[in-house]
Amino acid sequence: AKESGRNNYQFFTTELNVRAQHRYALETNLRRALIEQEFLVYYQPKISLQTSRIVGAEALIRWQMPGIGLIPPDEFIPISEEIGLILPIGRWVLQQVCRQTSYWREHFTPDLVVSVNISPKQFQDPGLCRFIEQTLAESNLPPCALQLEITEGLLMGEIELLLPVFESLRNLGITISLDDFGTGFSSLSYLQRFPIDNLKIDRSFIHKIPENQDSVVLTHAIIAMANALGMSITAEGVENAEQMLFLTDSGCQEMQGFYFSKPLPATGFEKLLANNRKS
Ligand code: C2E
Ligand code: CA
Ligand code: CA
Ligand code: CA
Repeated sequence: AKESGRNNYQFFTTELNVRAQHRYALETNLRRALIEQEFLVYYQPKISLQTSRIVGAEALIRWQMPGIGLIPPDEFIPISEEIGLILPIGRWVLQQVCRQTSYWREHFTPDLVVSVNISPKQFQDPGLCRFIEQTLAESNLPPCALQLEITEGLLMGEIELLLPVFESLRNLGITISLDDFGTGFSSLSYLQRFPIDNLKIDRSFIHKIPENQDSVVLTHAIIAMANALGMSITAEGVENAEQMLFLTDSGCQEMQGFYFSKPLPATGFEKLLANNRKS
């Protein structure tokens, strides 16, 4: 038993070394990626369930790593948060999105609203609001065209520190959406305490519709509650017509998911907008 314990320990330290090296390489590459502009923004359409038109998009970052290909955000956003790179990366995303959205509103869809994912570290950055204000002005984009998506985890921080940030962002005129709704804790009390404009029902609920009765009941209840509290609802992860019809009948306003479109590069999204002109 002693022998195997020691072997396990050796195995474990080797494994740790490999992971540390991997992590170090990732860090180095990420810093380079920012300088060399290797990031891209993809856009996934949001569809109005009432008019079937594209009313918005969610901006989703990708990393085009030379010689490797497209790397999804789950593989580099968490580590970027840990090493502090999320602030410059997040600012880069906001700048890209504001410029692009301004162009699209002018040439294709005047009421387009684009949402950007904001990590808790960015939300805690005291310069966030001023940066957004400047970026909107530089891009000539009205604040109502920008939405920030935050997660429930953020709301577990100190309310005295968080509320002023919410207030200054909302005074600017941008809207705030609560992402992955239903997967965190004590969600309901947060809805009372923070000024939130939109709820995004997590795709884990939508995924089980219509087979799973609990998901059906919960989704109904979330939509009714949000509407009663004056918040709009976006369903994410909509993959088929049954889900879309269920959501329309339940009073949901917007949907997003593979059923309509995957996230697309700017050029691909623009093609969709070109066919979206007529309202
Ligand atoms: P999220 O905010 O929950 O984004 C939705 C994710 O669901 C996206 O994955 C999208 O591609 C995927 N998705 C969309 N429709 C469907 C569907 O019908 N079925 C299924 N199974 N999946 C669908 P993606 O692009 O890989 O992004 C993963 C996560 O990375 C995002 O989750 C978000 O938390 C984070 N992220 C992406 N871009 C940014 C960014 O610019 N900043 C920050 N801080 N986080 C980002
Ligand atoms: Ca999101
Ligand atoms: Ca989400
Ligand atoms: Ca998520």
